[in-house]
Amino acid sequence: MALPSSNNLIHVFWHEGMLKHDTGKGVFDTGMDPGFLDVLEKHPENADRVKNMLSILKRGPISPFISWHQGRPALISELLSFHTQEYVNELIEADRTGGKELCGGTFLNPGSWDAALLAAGSTLSAMKHIIDGHGKIAYALVRPPGHHAQPAQADGYCFLNNAGLAVQLALDGGCRKVAVLDIDVHYGNGAAEGFYHSDKVLTISLHMNHGSWGPSHPQGGTIDELGEGEGFGYNLNIPLPNGTGDKGYGYAMQHLVVPAIEKFEPDMMVLVVGQDSSAFDPNGRQCLTMEGYREIGRTVRGMSNKYSNGRLLIVQEGGYHVTYAAYCLHTALEGVLNVAEPLLSDPIAYYPEDESFSTKVIEAIKKYQKEVVPFLKDA
Ligand SMILES: [Zn+2]
Repeated sequence: MALPSSNNLIHVFWHEGMLKHDTGKGVFDTGMDPGFLDVLEKHPENADRVKNMLSILKRGPISPFISWHQGRPALISELLSFHTQEYVNELIEADRTGGKELCGGTFLNPGSWDAALLAAGSTLSAMKHIIDGHGKIAYALVRPPGHHAQPAQADGYCFLNNAGLAVQLALDGGCRKVAVLDIDVHYGNGAAEGFYHSDKVLTISLHMNHGSWGPSHPQGGTIDELGEGEGFGYNLNIPLPNGTGDKGYGYAMQHLVVPAIEKFEPDMMVLVVGQDSSAFDPNGRQCLTMEGYREIGRTVRGMSNKYSNGRLLIVQEGGYHVTYAAYCLHTALEGVLNVAEPLLSDPIAYYPEDESFSTKVIEAIKKYQKEVVPFLKDA
């Protein structure tokens, strides 16, 4: 194995206080005990999943390529670059009064607020590390996740938009244009909403076609939610049919994501990564395997080398299979590192993929975007 060089390291930002966010047990993510089940399961967004992500980076074959950094809590003032004061006050009040279910499945319990501040602060530190030139690639290993958190609304296990805060920090720190690629299986509605009117931030989300799920998530994630005003065309939604796997995602990357980023020419790239688009995730209906994540990682690294001088922030979101999410994180980062030979083989992926439907949908999205999105007209 080739030894890592200083410019091929991933700087990981982590703080163990994030494990103190306890989302409880129940029927899946409801927190409910119906009274007739002997075994209540942990909420899918539990500390175990992140403990395995942590340990696989510490003790897995990728460990020589990792440089560890201590995370830190965000200041309340820092949150206001993305969130409203009223919303932040609501969270502080929920914490002060002993906790609250802010929306379906989204529990702010004792310890949760401190964890959320650590997730936001650690992601900001990771971005600052890149902006200050201390490293090219940083990964914020954080929970609670953030990509559903909107400026004034919690949603889908998320309180603070960790990636959104980092994007704003990049813009405030002199970046001209930031591209955000979200491969979590759910729509990255938080960053989309936060930058919906901006042409400085290109948000691209690949997700399953789950649609709106209520008042906390009014966005549909459909192809016609393109942004507004100056931001028109700078929110590209790629809802992929259920069952889309490595080949379908590869096709979408090649035909939709790469051409859009080529046209946009960002000087900072953000990969919002959720391993809930894997074939074994309880919250997702997509079929990515470890190899699919590896390939996405490679493609993203190629784009960041070409456009953003190698600068890439990776932010952790969902991923709820306690074993496979960690394995898929490992291979996504292998792809980002561009290691010649796979470092870790897949112990469980053996389900076939039918890409015939997903490629048709992707072709239709491509046609639509070329017709409607000004900056993609002759892409
Ligand atoms: Zn998700």
